[in-house]
Order: sequence, then structure tokens, then C-alpha cells
Amino acid sequence: MIRVCCLMRQVSVSRPRFDTRGLESADVEVLSATEWKKWKAALSPQELGALRLWRSGAILSPTRFVKVRDPTCPFCASEWASARHLWAECPHFEDRRQQLQTEVGFDAGWWSRQPPCTSKSGWVTFDAARTRGHRVAVSIAANKLGIDVVLALDCKLGEPPAPEASEGRHAA
Ligand SMILES: [Zn+2]
Repeated sequence: MIRVCCLMRQVSVSRPRFDTRGLESADVEVLSATEWKKWKAALSPQELGALRLWRSGAILSPTRFVKVRDPTCPFCASEWASARHLWAECPHFEDRRQQLQTEVGFDAGWWSRQPPCTSKSGWVTFDAARTRGHRVAVSIAANKLGIDVVLALDCKLGEPPAPEASEGRHAA
């Protein structure tokens, strides 16, 4: 946990990674919608933390620390586990995507059609859905998946790094 916090601080101070492509056409009013507020208010503290991390664009995807970490996807062995891969493509999250598609009513290609501001930080654009109500619904779906990705990644990569070889010989 401390390790993650340190990394987050380092990331946010050194260079914001928020990918703004598509943001100029984002529907920011979605965040004022009652449905959005109700959904957010019902999140657990852990989910809320994951949501904040996701929306700040600070997800610790394996490709973020390519110098110290293998960028391979820990779920499907894809060679480049970017935030977009995890959110839009990774088969590990396919069941969840399908569930959200059914819940909200959009097609399987929706995820890969969204710009980086959606796939990396959960801002939906006016192109994401035709009506405000539907944009709120797809926004919630997009962010639900974002939370799932952050939490799944944390479970997978949150383990302590392998000890150095020199530490391997401890007398009993
Ligand atoms: Zn994957």
C-alpha cells in the first residue's frame, strides 16, 4: 500500500499522465446527473479510491513502468498491457464488458471506438451516446470497468517484488 502511494505521488508530481485526446468533446455535465451521483455515493471506500485513480489517469498499468516492470499483460499475456488494452481489449475483462453492455444497451465495439479520454480516465464524449441519459449510463459503465481494472491490477501486481538474490541465504 505504501509502495503504491509513493508511486502515485511520484507520478502526479513528475508528470501528469492524463490523456486528453477526445476531452474537447467530453460531456462534463454527466458528473452533475443524479444517476451518476447516486452511483458514486454507493461505492465502497476501496472502489472510490480506485475510481479516483482511474479518473486521474494514474492507473499503474504494466506499461507505465516499463524500465522496472515487464509490460506484458498479467491477465492474458498480451505484450503491451496499456490502460487501453486492459479497458478495451483484454479478454480477462470480457465477461464484465458483456455484462455492462447488456445492462446499458450498447454494442461490443463501443469500447474500442472510445477515445483515450474515455478508455484512460472515464470521460465520455457526446459521440459515446445520443442522449444525456444514455451518456450518463455509459459513463457509469465505463467507470465501473475502470474500477474493476484498477482493483484487478492491484491484486495482481500488488505483491511485493521478488527478493534480491543476496537475501536468499539466511542462517536459521
Ligand atoms: Zn490482457
